[in-house]
Amino acid sequence: MSRKFPDTLTDGSSGTPKFQVAIVGGGISGLVTAIALLKHPGVSIQIYERAKEFKEIGASIGLGPNGLRSLEKLGVENALSGDALLDNVPRDIIHLGKETIDIEANGNDGVIIHFKDSTSKKADICIGADGIHSNVRKTFVPTHTLHWTGWVALRATFEASRLNDLDFPQDAAHWIGHDRNFFHSHLGKGLFTAVGGFHVDPSSPNAPGRDAKWNGLGSLEQFKEFYKDWNPTIMGFIEACPSIRLFPNFAGSALERWSFNDRVTLVGDAAHTHGGAFAAGGSLAIDDAYALYLALNHVWPASTYRTEKPTKYQISEIFRIYEATRKPHINKILGVVHKAIAGQKADVKTGETETEEQLRQRVLQRMDPEWISEHDVEAAFQEIIGKIGVIQELHEPRHRL
Ligand SMILES: Cc1cc2nc3c(=O)[nH]c(=O)nc-3n(C[C@H](O)[C@H](O)[C@H](O)COP(=O)(O)OP(=O)(O)OC[C@H]3O[C@@H](n4cnc5c(N)ncnc54)[C@H](O)[C@@H]3O)c2cc1C
Repeated sequence: MSRKFPDTLTDGSSGTPKFQVAIVGGGISGLVTAIALLKHPGVSIQIYERAKEFKEIGASIGLGPNGLRSLEKLGVENALSGDALLDNVPRDIIHLGKETIDIEANGNDGVIIHFKDSTSKKADICIGADGIHSNVRKTFVPTHTLHWTGWVALRATFEASRLNDLDFPQDAAHWIGHDRNFFHSHLGKGLFTAVGGFHVDPSSPNAPGRDAKWNGLGSLEQFKEFYKDWNPTIMGFIEACPSIRLFPNFAGSALERWSFNDRVTLVGDAAHTHGGAFAAGGSLAIDDAYALYLALNHVWPASTYRTEKPTKYQISEIFRIYEATRKPHINKILGVVHKAIAGQKADVKTGETETEEQLRQRVLQRMDPEWISEHDVEAAFQEIIGKIGVIQELHEPRHRL
């Protein structure tokens, strides 16, 4: 399928040849990328979201200090309220019910995005922010696959008032057991979340959870059964759950590259299929968006913008700096995640019982995830810029922007 690209892409409202950015997906990464890139006066954004309406799925997203810091730098002050991101994005740039099924990307011209409803839109670049099952990623890296890790999360979000009679620690807490964990926390808007789960051997054809649908309704009886021998406080939380949702966990390996044909790049779960480990996905997505903005503004500064768009070489440089800022950190996380998944699979297969002392030692020796939650994306970006500066001095013509 090949179409003619127009010579100039203009901002429909003013006729100014703004840099047109199409974002596929209106989740955390899509919305924060829009907020970030719109800080540049030369950028025009359209977001194409598959869902017909925005609604909370009740999974609860915790944000780490890294993501919160990036949001603050982007001027999102009400980050902990439910609608914070949507409040910061003009509604008329969000197009709901637009499922992207294919993308044509031509380094010299731009991109054409094709939707399931048989319509198409063009833009200068496309940013795939369409989550872990990303169609944008599949278009450019069709060989990349996801695997069910054998872990199924059981999650409930409900009114905290349902816990009135329960005496429990008010801080968020993570309880760690031999074969499963339990997490609970207050959320905003008077809500509360309880999260458990189970591991099975994903290669077993009869593994419970094999057919679980993401966000599908689970069994409260099964939830109780899983935790029946735990501290009674846990049963109190479970008793308060009005229903429980299932979230089978998927993960995939690190991508070799995140940008394609100098016209398409990925952010958030589309770029890193880490399977929700360390509850870091939301913050990683936010840091991606901020890094992309920093790279754009470095190569094509807002302060010098008049009317011209970035050239193909500038776009390529933006993507190169963005990837260099994010990939080493993300690949390190993916390495840890896949090692942990392999360990879990081995434990489930051998079925060996862990002693109390072994559990205690495992908890004491587990990795401190501070390097993830305290990661400074701006410092990582500055480091890359410093290195590029040195390279530019040595190879000025090749690296001229
Ligand atoms: C149960 C659960 C609990 C989690 N808990 C945490 C947590 O506590 N903390 C944390 O940081 N992370 C958590 N995560 C991970 C976190 O939700 C993700 O990492 C984060 O949402 C990634 O954001 P995203 O925008 O990249 O992807 P998503 O949130 O998946 O958003 C992708 C968007 O793209 C849209 N889309 C998909 N395909 C198309 C298409 N073809 N065309 C157009 N639109 C499309 C989708 O409808 C969606 O709106 C959790 C994940 C799950 C499943």
